[in-house]
Amino acid sequence: MSDRQTKTDVILIGAGIMSATLGTLLKELAPDWEITVFEKLPSAGEESSNEWNNAGTGHAALCELNYTVEKSDGSIDISKAIKINEQFQVSKQFWSYLVSSNLIRNPHEFIMPLPHMSLVQGEKNVEFLNKRFKALSTNLLFKGMEFSDDPAKLKEWIPLIMNGRTSNEPIAATKIDSGTDVNFGALTRLLLSHLENKGVDIHYKHSVDDIKRTGDGSWELKVRNTTNGAVERHNAKFVFIGGGGGSLHLLQKSGIPEGKRIGGFPVSGLFMVCTNPDIVEQHHAKVYGKAPVGAPPMSVPHLDTRYIDNKKSLLFGPFAGFSPKFLKTGSMFDLITSVKPHNLVTMLAAGAKNIPLTKYLIQQVMLSKEKRMEDLRDFVPDAKSEDWDLVVAGQRVQVIKDTADGRGTLQFGTEVISAADGSIAALLGASPGASTAVHVMLEVIKKCFPQHLEAWEPKIKIMIPSYGVSLLDHPELIDDIHHSTARTLGLHSELQPVM
Ligand SMILES: Cc1cc2nc3c(=O)[nH]c(=O)nc-3n(C[C@H](O)[C@H](O)[C@H](O)COP(=O)(O)OP(=O)(O)OC[C@H]3O[C@@H](n4cnc5c(N)ncnc54)[C@H](O)[C@@H]3O)c2cc1C
Repeated sequence: MSDRQTKTDVILIGAGIMSATLGTLLKELAPDWEITVFEKLPSAGEESSNEWNNAGTGHAALCELNYTVEKSDGSIDISKAIKINEQFQVSKQFWSYLVSSNLIRNPHEFIMPLPHMSLVQGEKNVEFLNKRFKALSTNLLFKGMEFSDDPAKLKEWIPLIMNGRTSNEPIAATKIDSGTDVNFGALTRLLLSHLENKGVDIHYKHSVDDIKRTGDGSWELKVRNTTNGAVERHNAKFVFIGGGGGSLHLLQKSGIPEGKRIGGFPVSGLFMVCTNPDIVEQHHAKVYGKAPVGAPPMSVPHLDTRYIDNKKSLLFGPFAGFSPKFLKTGSMFDLITSVKPHNLVTMLAAGAKNIPLTKYLIQQVMLSKEKRMEDLRDFVPDAKSEDWDLVVAGQRVQVIKDTADGRGTLQFGTEVISAADGSIAALLGASPGASTAVHVMLEVIKKCFPQHLEAWEPKIKIMIPSYGVSLLDHPELIDDIHHSTARTLGLHSELQPVM
């Protein structure tokens, strides 16, 4: 046991994309502040943010059908799609600022242009897609979206999916070339190495085991060095709990009232990875389908070109499943130990309400590789089992809380939970996730540092020109941002990267 003790301005728990983004923003806004990071694993971006643990979609609502819901009168509600698209524009502007200021280099290490497509089959679904296309394509944020129900055109767009297709069912797709594949693992590592260069103190193999408020209102963390078991105490005026799936337990340890009556519902994932380079070469898009009725949004596998380890890859998934772990490297007791007296009723209510979902996820876990190949063959009719391997993806922990819809309601978004005095904040939830990290971390800044906002705003606007305004209210900004981010990040579709 060591008696090492430190005092610092900011402690970030976890070296995932969220802490990396918050640390980078704070270093730009308050360069003199001392920041310390504790990460229990040996390196950065090893959990959900790792490239093999998430789908790498730059979520801008260009292809995800669950962001555009059909209303009872048959019209399409695009409000959520607009919100997510605007949030992704915020991320792109910040990344672009970092590249143009030489704070990070080589944008193609973490972001690539890639068409985003939605694909549906069956008359009703084709009708839905067409209505969605009409609602979105007239909106400036979705400019350039194309629709086709012509099999010859679709063969041009997605030969791998159309070859060998014998069904006569109507089929249609939308395509937009301004989509992206984002390697959030690479981006996390770039941001942390930039922070290290700026003097941020980063401790890997250090697990935060407890968080307590001290008499002067700051926070004391009990940190365990996982190499030698030594226990250290570290104190900070502000703590961000960016532990991904590990955040709920840490939030509970802090004891803040805002963290009570909240639970977590873990969802595991699996990808199928194509091992045949000839097949990988035949596809160039992210292709999202429609979730079957009753299935949760995260259970819609998609066929994605990915850029991982400087190589083009092809992944299908993620297949959702159930595991009681809250982190991929977590414990089988994570779920049970997250149940506390204050969230027991909320958790029981959620348990009762979500029996069908839990059953569905458990059934999904049990599926054999051959069964998963059948799902893949809905996308790639000629897929051969020997060309595909299974890999385990990351864990997501969906938030459970009491809402106007009742006790124990499962949430599919992300939530920032912060103490009333702004001295601690945690990020819970999983979706749309990493793509909106910059928007979500700006929310943390707004909630926790209101006293500095006025002074920081001019710098935030340099980094993110659309900060504080809706792009749709300022159409002149849309083209500007689109062109400048595309130029800086190398996202012009005609500028195909050389791998
Ligand atoms: C299957 C899947 C697919 C996804 N697809 C997409 C997608 O296509 N697009 C998208 O934008 N998002 C996607 N997401 C979501 C996205 O991956 C997450 O929102 C994002 O990575 C979360 O980042 P984070 O920094 O909060 O968590 P993480 O990346 O999980 O980082 C948390 C870190 O905290 C550490 N930690 C935890 N507890 C402690 C502790 N007590 N002490 C010290 N360190 C600790 C962990 O080891 C970890 O390194 C997906 C997620 C999954 C699981």
